Amino acid sequence: MAINGEAIAGQLTNGHLPSAKPSTERIQIVDEEKQFTPDLNAQLQQWGLHDVGFAYNIVSVFGSQSTGKSTLLNRLFGTTFDVMDETRRQQTTKGIWMCRGKDMSVMVMDVEGTDGRERGEDQDFERKSALFSLASSEVLLVNLWEHQVGLYQGANMGLLKTVFEVNLGLFGKKANDATSGRTLLLFIIRDHIGQTPLANLQATLTADINRIWDSLSKPEELKDRKLSDYFDLAFTTLPHKILVPEKFEEEVKQLRGRFVDKANPNYVFKPAYHKRIPADGVSFYMEGIWEQVQTNKDLDLPTQQELLAQFRCDEISAVALAEFNEQAKSQKRPVESGKVVEGLGALMKNWKTEALSRYDRDASRYHKGVYARKRSDLLATIDSTLSPLFFGQLKNLHKACLVTFKQSLQNGLKGDNYSFADVVLQARTHCETTFSTGAQEALLGDNDWTWEDELSLLQEEIGHVADQCRKDETKKMVNQIERNVKKMLAEPVELSLNQPKKTMWDDILKTFGEVLGKAEAAYLSKAKSFNCTEEENATSLASLRKRSWIALKAKIDEQTADQAFLSKLRTHFEERFRYDEHGVPRVWKPEDDIDSAFKWAKDHTLELVPLYSKIVPEDSSLEFSLPSDTDSSDALNGNGDEFDFESSLVIFTETKALDLTNKFRKDADAYYVEAKRSTVASIAQ
Ligand code: GDP
Ligand code: MG
Repeated sequence: MAINGEAIAGQLTNGHLPSAKPSTERIQIVDEEKQFTPDLNAQLQQWGLHDVGFAYNIVSVFGSQSTGKSTLLNRLFGTTFDVMDETRRQQTTKGIWMCRGKDMSVMVMDVEGTDGRERGEDQDFERKSALFSLASSEVLLVNLWEHQVGLYQGANMGLLKTVFEVNLGLFGKKANDATSGRTLLLFIIRDHIGQTPLANLQATLTADINRIWDSLSKPEELKDRKLSDYFDLAFTTLPHKILVPEKFEEEVKQLRGRFVDKANPNYVFKPAYHKRIPADGVSFYMEGIWEQVQTNKDLDLPTQQELLAQFRCDEISAVALAEFNEQAKSQKRPVESGKVVEGLGALMKNWKTEALSRYDRDASRYHKGVYARKRSDLLATIDSTLSPLFFGQLKNLHKACLVTFKQSLQNGLKGDNYSFADVVLQARTHCETTFSTGAQEALLGDNDWTWEDELSLLQEEIGHVADQCRKDETKKMVNQIERNVKKMLAEPVELSLNQPKKTMWDDILKTFGEVLGKAEAAYLSKAKSFNCTEEENATSLASLRKRSWIALKAKIDEQTADQAFLSKLRTHFEERFRYDEHGVPRVWKPEDDIDSAFKWAKDHTLELVPLYSKIVPEDSSLEFSLPSDTDSSDALNGNGDEFDFESSLVIFTETKALDLTNKFRKDADAYYVEAKRSTVASIAQ
């Protein structure tokens, strides 16, 4: 094999020694220990193949040792696989290797191993690596020398049989879905001399393969499956690399066209061969296949695809969520602290859309069912993360609107010239509009969130506030009217009580009636703008009446307090005893009938006690009365004291009257004694 040695020497000068290989350009995906590399994903990323979706292809090679497989791959794809150094018989590193095709979106796999038939232990690796290549590739190059055609052992046909068999057992069910999982077996007949035309070689190989297929021990449910259910066969030859190097290079170049030129009628990467695994899932997918090959798990490819999809969709979803969570977190604190976040809805929509599109971009290529299921999980997680923000925002809006509502009321109710109803209506409309607009903005619109309940709550609270405010306003007004009533009553009542006469109470009640009438009119004219209910008006008026009456009674009590009343009696008595009928002061003479005058004046004065002791008008039509149920109406007053109208008519009780009478008698007696003395004194003069 001196010729081969020369060729290797040439390659040595090109720097294609194992020790000099550019490490970034290839990766050992399965090592001598049959361990699958954890670095494939990173390598795909480095090659720029990680994010190409489905726009990539996988090709690998099958064939005996030293049949020029690596040499061919390097020629076809510009790869850097190790080539056997014939001069030193240097052993290349065993394992499955992968390179990216130069300027091609192709993952190329090469298998290195010792000749399995020499050492028993390696048969396992050979078989497994071949099975792996077959299961994971779209196109498998079956490499063999021309002189191996027809030789069962020489052409590795025994190995192919085993591989077919296990492949069918492990992954055979994939063909249930007839559209996917086909593989192209491209036979490359090396060192073709030309004596036997390709057609003949092809016929021989086809017959061999079919015979192998028929001899497979197939699983029961797949026993009727044909080779063509799984595989397409294609054949080509290459001239002798050493004898006719130019021709060899020329035809390799042509063959390369079938891998790079989509317009080529023999373009090998047909969509039907694609495994439909997105590039970013390839490493996981391949690892799964290797795992199955290793352990001979009886799993079929669709299940494998689902497992892959679950794994990848979870990963993609987690990445999408991580960014989303960061975004959502940014507004958590403001919302929790009670802030109404401006444009929160738009923010949330944005985060959600971004997260979903991040997920869709990478996950949509995976198993549709798994993708959809994980997507709805993601949606649920997103919504449940956003929901506290939404409901927090509603609560904050609610609070803020209520505060504004109260302020609007306060501002609107300043001064005297406002219509309570208008102020409330305006504040209410503003409040509800602000809330609804804010709440509507915060909606995502694609889930079941609503804000109407919160609005009802707000409306209810606004109602309470407005009611309370109206009550306060009404109370203020009633107080104001009450003050006026007191003012209007004071003078006339005082005057009447100082001029006792039979119709004294008539005058007082008449005045009271007029004043009360005015007060009621004043209330009703103001209450119109308060939108008070009939019932509220009735209550207010009842309270007004009662309080007016109490005011009257207070005035009367003040004027009829012991000393005040006794002084009234004294004045009355004096006017009659110390002055004559013409109002001239009397100077008592001894002959004067002091006793009769005294008695007359005293009796006359004492008649006043019963007159004052009860509020009874001469004219019964002037009688005033409060309904007995007035008590409950006094909520306005905040004063729940028992109030008995009947007893309020009594100024003096009988005991009191007696007491006052006695006190007055004493006063009167003093006047009598004084009068008597004055006559004695005048005699003495
Ligand atoms: P592999 O073990 O199948 O990957 O084979 P290699 O590519 O490492 O090549 C093994 C030996 O065969 C090397 O010395 C190559 O120079 C030589 N070789 C490569 N291609 C051809 C070919 O087409 N014809 C012949 N006769 N030798 C070749
Ligand atoms: Mg090789």
